[in-house]
Amino acid sequence: MTKKKENARKCDDFFKKQSRQGLALGFGDIRLRTNFSEILPNQTKLQSSFSRNIAINIPIISSPMDTVTESKMAIAMAKFGGLGVIHKGLSPEEQAAQVAKVKHHLSAFIAEPICVKGGDKVGDILRMRDQKDYGFSSFPVVDGERRLIGIVTSNDFEFCDDVEGKTIFDIMSTDIISAEHLDVKGAYQMMQERHKKILPITDRGAVLSGIYTWKDVKRIMTNDAQGYSLDKNGSLLVGAAIGVTGDDKLRAELLAAKGVNVFVVDTAHGNSRDVFQMVQYLKHSYPDIDVVAGNVSEAKAARNLLDVGVDGIRVGQGPGSICTTRIIAGIGHPQVSAIYECAKAIRGSGIPICADGGIEYSGDITIALAAGAESVMLGKLLAGTTESPGLVLFKNGKSVKVYRGMGSLGAMLDNKSSRERYGQTGNTGDKLVPEGVEAEIAFKGDVANILFQLTGGLRSGMGYVGASSLYQLQKRADFCRMSSSGSAESHPHVEGMQDAPNYRRAN
Ligand code: 5GP
Repeated sequence: MTKKKENARKCDDFFKKQSRQGLALGFGDIRLRTNFSEILPNQTKLQSSFSRNIAINIPIISSPMDTVTESKMAIAMAKFGGLGVIHKGLSPEEQAAQVAKVKHHLSAFIAEPICVKGGDKVGDILRMRDQKDYGFSSFPVVDGERRLIGIVTSNDFEFCDDVEGKTIFDIMSTDIISAEHLDVKGAYQMMQERHKKILPITDRGAVLSGIYTWKDVKRIMTNDAQGYSLDKNGSLLVGAAIGVTGDDKLRAELLAAKGVNVFVVDTAHGNSRDVFQMVQYLKHSYPDIDVVAGNVSEAKAARNLLDVGVDGIRVGQGPGSICTTRIIAGIGHPQVSAIYECAKAIRGSGIPICADGGIEYSGDITIALAAGAESVMLGKLLAGTTESPGLVLFKNGKSVKVYRGMGSLGAMLDNKSSRERYGQTGNTGDKLVPEGVEAEIAFKGDVANILFQLTGGLRSGMGYVGASSLYQLQKRADFCRMSSSGSAESHPHVEGMQDAPNYRRAN
């Protein structure tokens, strides 16, 4: 097959025709046509990638917004096979600490474990553990040269009768089993044989180079972690948003030190000089960490980002549920056409597109992926869950959580990086021009239930198209435009409708 034919898509003619008429389409304008199918929804495979080296098991990413993604959301997303991108409304130190929490949640081999010193007070270590919200209580004890001298575990803390008077020396165990160079399998065997919950790995001089922990090693070896998004060390994948100023170089350094897997250069206008320079800086300084950049919505902009060396492109200018850019600034590109045109412009490059914003229902995910995206980024659909930052409020008899745009007045007043995202660095107070709004949305419970419904809808769509993989979905998909009555008949039209777990009428 020639390269041109191999790259051709069934939907190319459809989009060519729309563009000849100068039309750009949003999710509500089109539907996928059904195809002959031998594929049942539960036979579909959802593996995809967010960027050149970041493989994911479901094509869903949580947005870097201060009411959507911090460590709790990122952990839940990676455990379901997707990925969370920690927002940059936090200080660089706080954001790096959020990344560290995700990396420490599950890790076959922890290269930089939290260590304690023999002279530390037991009470101080317990307070540090609680403050930092570590979900573990086993620590290697090292001397000033980082040589391993003992281990303290939850049992040692539990049975300590004087936490304010005693030091780690008094309670640590010195009967240590350690090893040099062991893979996960070897660690599993050794820990099982010796009944050890923590296995330090040292070099010849007894200097600590990392640890294995039983809970995680067991989870990985017994396949409990199957379907998780993991890096090569067996820890959960996590991304972090970053801006384009001088301060962001320090941010990058702290994030890299904590093991972030992908930087997301997070701006409202990705086709701009500062973004290109930041991408080049990050690629040069951290060649092992992928860089996704955006946002863009035009073919030329996607090509420009490809040329500066990005590993992934975030597409979407103005489709977001809390976004007012199209109304306030008068710019933007309806999202399905933006996805198609950007994807077409870089087709064959191997660089994935992430379709960001405007997804209301699971069917929109199927459409976004069929039009050329490799993943979708969600804000509203994941906000208002147990894992999203913020408190559940009880208002007018309903449980709600705040969901707000990063360009809303509240977010801009609260953090500098939001002002930078919308090019309003020096402005404050009534000199801010918001490009987003704030909302209170119904509390929805655990995000895993939402992801289950969203991936279920996507699988169903793939079944109708006869596609067993996302690649086949893109190859086989064709679209039709809907009239306004076609659109009206698509939604339930019955009186007294009750919300379903995957459907509530958009308001
Ligand atoms: P949603 O999934 O809620 O429809 O859209 C989320 C996306 O909207 C985010 O990933 C981000 O790209 C975009 N976004 C977040 N905050 C704002 C904002 O205040 N203004 C604009 N224009 N876009 C925003």
